[in-house]
Amino acid sequence: MEGLQNSLNSLEQYCNKWKLTVNVQKTKIVVFRKGGALNRQYRWSYAGNEIEIVQNFNYLGIVFSSGGSFVQATNTLSGKGLRAMNMLFSVTKNLHTPIHIMFNLFDSYVLSILNYNCEVWGFLKAENIERVHKKFCKWLLNVKMTTNTLSLYAECGRFPLYIERHVRIIKYRLKLNTSKSENCILYHIVKNQRYSIEHNQNVSNWTSKVRKLLQDSGFEEIWLFPESVNINMFIPEFRLRLRDIYIQNWRTNMNTCTSLYIYREIKLSYVKSEYLEILDNKKYRNVIAKLRLSSHNLAIETGRHRQVDRSQRKCTMCDLNDLEDEFHFVLKCPYYSNLRQQFIPRYYVRHQSVFKFISLINSDRKSVLIKLAKFCIQASEVRNQVNIN
Ligand SMILES: [Zn+2]
Repeated sequence: MEGLQNSLNSLEQYCNKWKLTVNVQKTKIVVFRKGGALNRQYRWSYAGNEIEIVQNFNYLGIVFSSGGSFVQATNTLSGKGLRAMNMLFSVTKNLHTPIHIMFNLFDSYVLSILNYNCEVWGFLKAENIERVHKKFCKWLLNVKMTTNTLSLYAECGRFPLYIERHVRIIKYRLKLNTSKSENCILYHIVKNQRYSIEHNQNVSNWTSKVRKLLQDSGFEEIWLFPESVNINMFIPEFRLRLRDIYIQNWRTNMNTCTSLYIYREIKLSYVKSEYLEILDNKKYRNVIAKLRLSSHNLAIETGRHRQVDRSQRKCTMCDLNDLEDEFHFVLKCPYYSNLRQQFIPRYYVRHQSVFKFISLINSDRKSVLIKLAKFCIQASEVRNQVNIN
């Protein structure tokens, strides 16, 4: 307590000498501690004015909390990111902007806010930050808010944001080795952290998490010999490794997730689906996205939400006694035969099979995709009308 007061007194002397003023109203103190009430004796002043003690303080855009957690900081960042994203929505609402440009805009205007200073807080799970990213993808494809994240990101060829945060953390840590140690407070903090985790296995701090991240991704040698790393060569390799690990887990999770029964058949590799770029008309693009991501009202999907047994999610438009799934709707149900004749190439309809359905929905021919979208729009209208009546 005395130490800080002495420093404040020295600052006052210095400022008086150089005719500088400190705005005491805007000056705050945060007492970092592990919970508990603050000792009432804690008081500090500057030039006779008491300085307010606060729980949180926004310093250069990052909220520091007295408990040392950065949850508050990520809440603030996600709020700011959401506002930037809404702005982007309203500006591009009536435009048919290509998908890759929309993602570029998101990365420039929104992601730069969401990732702000993530070298420090990036080990947090930060679901509030991820939510903004998910919301953007869902809005872009105009799919339901309940759409599964595994299929959503795969469809867009996007990765969860923690991957880029982890890349930035490692880059930052490696750069600390090359900065001038005598000028860098951080260098000494990290050096102390390294010392403490090497002498006590149970210590958990930023440096121990860096070590774990490198070990878990198969780069323990980088932890052991960081000085020998060429950062510019290593970082892309590290990013690729984190993505590969994600894709590996993605495959496992896709296979165990029952709601993705159709998607795991149509999505063979983890890249942005081609139709998203082929179809420049937003309306058609979104119709195909809805069909692929099960963001529709067919019984197979609505029954899942109403917890109807899978075998009972039947089509009520015909008497084939089939499940009303995407395949039945697009290629089989006789109720839409006329529309099918008009919009779906005969090759797919004749001897229809799930295999043909998959090749239709994965088609890279613009005319086929547009017709498929038109079929879905008109067949849905017919279906809705029957269901209303
Ligand atoms: Zn039917």
